Amino acid sequence: MELESLPDDVVASIEVRDRWRRASAGELEFLVTDIARWTPGSTVRVAFLDGTAQLHADIAGATAQITDACNLTLDFGHDEAAGTFRRWTTADTEYAAEIRVSFDMQGFFSLVGTDSTDPTIGAGGGPIGGNPGQRSLNLGRFTTNRPPTWEGTARHEFLHALGFHHSHQNMRGTCESEFRWDDDQDYSFTQDANGVFVPDSQGRRPGIYTYLSGAPNRWSRAKVDHNLRTEDDPDVVAGPFDTKSVMLYRFPAFFYKSNPSSCAPAGTGQSLSEGDKRGLRLLYPHAEEELATRQARADAVLQSIGVGPEGHAGADGGTLAEAYRRRVEELAAAQAKGAG
Ligand SMILES: [Zn+2]
Repeated sequence: MELESLPDDVVASIEVRDRWRRASAGELEFLVTDIARWTPGSTVRVAFLDGTAQLHADIAGATAQITDACNLTLDFGHDEAAGTFRRWTTADTEYAAEIRVSFDMQGFFSLVGTDSTDPTIGAGGGPIGGNPGQRSLNLGRFTTNRPPTWEGTARHEFLHALGFHHSHQNMRGTCESEFRWDDDQDYSFTQDANGVFVPDSQGRRPGIYTYLSGAPNRWSRAKVDHNLRTEDDPDVVAGPFDTKSVMLYRFPAFFYKSNPSSCAPAGTGQSLSEGDKRGLRLLYPHAEEELATRQARADAVLQSIGVGPEGHAGADGGTLAEAYRRRVEELAAAQAKGAG
């Protein structure tokens, strides 16, 4: 089984950018929870590098569930008369689209939210990144061999493109303690003809670190941690852990300590769960929901730093509260501008 991942140089540029953000935002960083989202109510363009118009139409159709659930439009540049959809090329120097889809690389991946238009991501000029001529979302081999679960895969990647992270990394889930990180005791390293780690002659199984170090993933321990360990990134908007989410991976059974596992998906992974839709509405609320959401979030943050909604500041809570109110106002102004 090949897991979804971004190239190491792209991950490195994301980490550099995140460190910079953290340093410049200082202690207020944890407040800016929706930093990677597009402006609610806006139109985000999508373009294709390759593939047929029929495939483009199918992808656009699969994402309707997403845009039906929230206040954001995905514009695929559909020309009804010509029967075509928007295209981009690797030679582009201006953005043909915010989300640049390809089918020509191996595997599935997407940059998260506005990383797709952040030119510091993948600045080394590789095939993937936030520049106009770089892929931001790949659905490998959809042109030749579309998997039966292609709709769920397309929705999963587009939710990344709108700012979602993986459910198995949700800090409120149980996956980190449910994963079998280590080999069975006395496991003797055994690989099949393709280099995939398999159970040894005594039936002892490789753990996740060993398995993913073999073909076809060849991941370092650090890469396993980055992709599978719980994220406590303060930018991640975490809802309750949702076993029906299309963002929850279905791993092979030996990845889990127990079977059935509380971390394994309960749904088919094909259609958005109610939790996915709630997450979408949180990120991209309709105008009337926005004010209530923002107010609720402001209150929660004020409470977390020891300031009640009425603003009885603690030691340095006063300055934090003021700064946060300013940030809320900025968000409101940005949104008013985006809506206008
Ligand atoms: Zn993913």
